[in-house]
Amino acid sequence: MGVMLSVKNLDVFYGSIHAIKNISFDVQEGEIVTLIGANGAGKTTTLHSISGLVKPKNGEINFMGNDLRTTEPHKIIRLGLAQVPEGRRIFAKMTVLENLEMGAYIRNDGDKIEDDFEKLFERLPRLKERRKQIAGTLSGGEQQMLAIGRALMCNPKMLLLDEPSMGLSPLLVGEIFNIIQDVNKSGVTVLLVEQNAKKALEIANHAYVLETGTIAMEGDADELANDEKVRKAYLGG
Ligand code: ATP
Repeated sequence: MGVMLSVKNLDVFYGSIHAIKNISFDVQEGEIVTLIGANGAGKTTTLHSISGLVKPKNGEINFMGNDLRTTEPHKIIRLGLAQVPEGRRIFAKMTVLENLEMGAYIRNDGDKIEDDFEKLFERLPRLKERRKQIAGTLSGGEQQMLAIGRALMCNPKMLLLDEPSMGLSPLLVGEIFNIIQDVNKSGVTVLLVEQNAKKALEIANHAYVLETGTIAMEGDADELANDEKVRKAYLGG
């Protein structure tokens, strides 16, 4: 155990817009940590800074002893940090199986890939049933499952998830969150960005509330779920 990902004094600008203002947070190994906040609070920008898609102006981002600000995005994946992007971004014209193979292509432990396919299909049997289906024809929930499955095929130590509940019915949100919990129990640390604060706080260990680019509150997820201010602002009273 210990800190796996550490973000210190992060500043991000889009031109003159100061999107992230000196935020700091940690993700402990083995935990589910959630970053909650309204639309435009800066959640996606924070994730993109970690995965190398956005260049911060200031700050430190350290993952298992590696300085991510000087690491190229494709190398960041190889360190064991995989991202499930907002809106899923699966390859719509490829089959389910081809999408999963794209997740595995960065690996050099080829002999283990077959085993991992089996494990993945045990965990997500729906993907096995539909492995020959064109991904763009999957339902929203299945596409989200596929996006998670594809990231898992990188054999990550940590998953970054950007609003996995987006556009899903409450039933499917529950299903996706069960999968996230299950993946975490199998040993993958999770950083979960969510607008659905209620569900995110249910499964997380620790939480940070992002408001207009700053961290307004942090604490154990149970504590925040019972906090008056959080309840009013994010949990509908
Ligand atoms: P959402 O849930 O809508 O994705 P978010 O919390 O993820 O919201 P960000 O997408 O990180 O928020 O956006 C943070 C701020 O930065 C917003 O004010 C947004 O308009 C701005 N922003 C994001 N991307 C860009 C960009 N490429 N150029 C200019 N401004 C941007």
